[in-house]
Amino acid sequence: MSDEKNHDVDSIKKEKEEFEDICFVCRRPESKAGRMVHLPNDINICQECMQKVFDSVGQSNMNYQDLMNMPNISMINLNDLRNSIPQRQKVKKKKEDAKQALDLKAIPAPHKIKAKLDEYVIGQEYAKKVISVAVYNHYKRVATGTMDDIEIEKSNMLMIGPTGSGKTYLVKTLARLLDVPLAIADATSLTEAGYIGDDIESVVSKLLAAAGNDVEKAEQGIIFIDEIDKIAKKKNTNQRDVSGESVQQGMLKLLEGADVEVPVGANSKNAMVPLTTVNTRNILFICGGAFPGLEDIIKERLNKQASIGFRADLKDKYDNDPDILEKVTLEDIRNFGMIPEFIGRLPIVFTLKGLTKDMLVQILKEPKNAILKQYQKLLALDEVQLCFEEGALEAIAEKALEKKTGARALRAIIEEFMLDIMYEIPKDDSIGKVTITREYIEHKGGPVIEMRGVPALEG
Ligand code: ADP
Repeated sequence: MSDEKNHDVDSIKKEKEEFEDICFVCRRPESKAGRMVHLPNDINICQECMQKVFDSVGQSNMNYQDLMNMPNISMINLNDLRNSIPQRQKVKKKKEDAKQALDLKAIPAPHKIKAKLDEYVIGQEYAKKVISVAVYNHYKRVATGTMDDIEIEKSNMLMIGPTGSGKTYLVKTLARLLDVPLAIADATSLTEAGYIGDDIESVVSKLLAAAGNDVEKAEQGIIFIDEIDKIAKKKNTNQRDVSGESVQQGMLKLLEGADVEVPVGANSKNAMVPLTTVNTRNILFICGGAFPGLEDIIKERLNKQASIGFRADLKDKYDNDPDILEKVTLEDIRNFGMIPEFIGRLPIVFTLKGLTKDMLVQILKEPKNAILKQYQKLLALDEVQLCFEEGALEAIAEKALEKKTGARALRAIIEEFMLDIMYEIPKDDSIGKVTITREYIEHKGGPVIEMRGVPALEG
């Protein structure tokens, strides 16, 4: 019993050391507002605010008794207040002389980062190379702090690629490998502050939440903003563009590096939520989007160039070029509707390729956490061996290609036909091996089922 008590006291003490109090009135943390006056029920007020209260009471000639007798004023019950305060009011204290979380020597070299990415992400060689180098440079800069003396540009990135080609997956894998917090936001939900939607700074508070309210950790995290093409400047509009160009404008200072006041433990600022300051200078921003229609802009430019002068080419030379996206220039992105200041803050631009049938087959079986491996493991727990014929994998890839959602379609297709297998197999203990055939995927036949110790039997 006494042990338990000691443990409780210890954990309270530890929490006090790691977290700082926040003023109930002005919402500033202890590190900014100075020492707090502690009131019952875990309410703290900074001395400045306390003084203001005394001053205003002192200035008015009203005495406390008058105040109490005024209509509409009743005694504030601190317990009521307490119930309306959201939980997680605390932010982690900044350690003054904390050593760099990322040790320069500990940042893996670009080829090592890429080798790790290779284990999970199929194809996209160029994108993996660019991202490895950019991340390496970014964290090297963060670790050495050279951002201060020499103005080295931040390695914020713009990733262009068709849907389902692995943009989000690439960033997620990267953040996991580097063990940094990651926030994924959708640009479509962002609006200029004050309008319906999430205001732009909410992406930083998401990151803070992902870092467990640890400001220092959040300041070295990654923010991925998906569907960035959706905030392109709207053409021919007379209305105020609160979710397009203004969002781009609003993001400028975040991308570059600024102190942002963000709510702790919530994603909107309101009176009851404490605020803390996060500096975005070392936060790596990666923006991604499919940019539909960008290909036409590139084609138009290339065709125009090609048809001028002596070396005029065929007019439709680029019409069937599958790698047209790789030829993108900043000019094209600007024509798409991104403002120059915005593009300027994303110095690293690269493209991802649309996935081919071969890549889809590889995605099915090769990554460390490949879908097929997951099913094989599940069935192995029932001591059943699961095999896929090469033809079956191709049939799945072909079906996925038809859906035009990249690798995203794979899981849905597999789940559809694996349902029967996962339902039927555990019924019969004597089944030892199941082979999925092309016929089964195409609904023309069944899987091959082999009993334990008995030769193959068509199912
Ligand atoms: P988007 O480009 O639209 O962000 P995602 O990254 O969300 O696409 O991809 C959807 C899913 O497809 C991922 O969760 C991942 O499992 C799979 N995937 C996509 N591309 C690849 C790839 N190149 N290698 C391995 N898996 C991939």
